[in-house]
Parts: sequence; C-alpha cells; structure tokens
Amino acid sequence: MVTIKTPEEIDILKEGGVRHAYILTEVAKKIVAGISTNELEDFARQLVKEKQDIPAFLNYTPRGARRPYPSALCVSVNNEIVHGIPNENALILQEGDIVSLDLGLTHKGLITDSAITVGVGKLTPKNKKLIEHCREALALGIKVAKGGNHIGDIGFAIESFARPLGYGICSGLAGHGVGYKVHEDPFVPNEGRRGEGELLRPGMVIALEPMLTLGTDKIVLSDDGYTYKTADGSNAAHFEHTIAITDGEPVILTK
Ligand code: MG
Ligand code: MG
Repeated sequence: MVTIKTPEEIDILKEGGVRHAYILTEVAKKIVAGISTNELEDFARQLVKEKQDIPAFLNYTPRGARRPYPSALCVSVNNEIVHGIPNENALILQEGDIVSLDLGLTHKGLITDSAITVGVGKLTPKNKKLIEHCREALALGIKVAKGGNHIGDIGFAIESFARPLGYGICSGLAGHGVGYKVHEDPFVPNEGRRGEGELLRPGMVIALEPMLTLGTDKIVLSDDGYTYKTADGSNAAHFEHTIAITDGEPVILTK
C-alpha cells in the first residue's frame, strides 16, 4: 500500500535528510587507498550515534532475506552493485576502486535512504564517466517525479538516458517508497514507459536509485545473502535520494 506523509512528517524527513547527507559526505571523505570497509562502517555508526539517530539498515530483515542485515552502512566495491556488508570479510580499498556508500537513517521515527558512489584516488576514464552518468541518471529521474506523473515516467527518464550510453541497468533492483519503513510501496524501477504505473501524488515519499553497470543487466546474489554483484564482473555505480512528491518540483530530502 502506498502511504501519504503529512507535511509535519515531511519536515521531520527533511531534518533527518540533512543529517543523512552530512554523514554520507563525512564517510566519503575518509575514502582513501588502504582504508578498510569496516572502518567506514565504524565511522558511520559513530556519526549516527552522535546525532542520536538510529541506523535503519542495522538488524533490518528485508522480505525474503535469511537473516537481519548486520551493518549500518552498505559498502559495495567495483563489481558489487548494492548491499555489500562492510564488517564481514572487510575489503581494503585500493587506488582506482569505485565505492557505493548506502545508508538508511531513522530520525524521530522516520526513515530516509540515500547513496553515493565515490572513487578511490585516480579512476579510469570509464569508471569516472560511469559515476558521473549514474549521478545524472538520478537527477533526470528526480526531475520527472512530480505529482500527476507516473512511476513509469521515472524509469523512462533513467533508461532513455542510460541505455544509449551503453550502460547496463540492474534488472530486479529498484527504488521504493520509504519513510515509515525502509521498503514501502511503490516499487520504482529504473526502466519504464511514460504514463504507466502508479500515479505520483503529493505526500508520497520515494527513494530513487539508479544502479548502472559497465556491462550486463544481470545480477547475482552472493553467498552472504545480501551482496548483489554484476553477473559479468563489470563495475557498477549507484546513487540514491529520498524525495517527497509535490504538485510542483519534487523536494530532495537527503541533501
Ligand atoms: Mg539505499
Ligand atoms: Mg533504497
């Protein structure tokens, strides 16, 4: 069921979203060759705690998962697309890696979801472009997320930008409603047709999250039950914002 948030709830989400953006920015600043994903997790937890908020992903069990998620942060490196677990089999970041940082934050009982992808040191031109284009795909999706449009308009905007550039769009992974829970209806795919799917209405709060790859659309789930990787080993980027739908321009809550 799609929920509609009150203006007061959207104000709280906005307040949480500012904290959320701050935490992601601060964690991203720590990214250098030689740091472990576990250190990023510890730092993120510390920042969430300092603000007296709650990490929304920690101990959350998504539908179909075998166990609760063990971290505050998802850290997905190179061919990992999303849900990389930073404190199990921690990775040491290397020069040239690309790293997605994904955080869920509960502030005054309401949840925001946001992710960024950053590079470690000097990147190959391909990886650099992948990150830039994924950020742009998110911006294009947000631009059409207005009351009166449809979920399909968002997918269309992302797909019609990313496909001609040759990127893969991770099949089966999508954005979602958010706020009262980490994952709410509607499902917000990164592909679609104009005018199709759920009608966007003021007060809807959704997380848009394009995940683009340098190769395939196909994804594989790792043995840890969480980490999704590209089936062909190609690199992936991921950007996500939580936004509120209005009659006019959407409000980006996590900035
Ligand atoms: Mg996320
Ligand atoms: Mg999400």
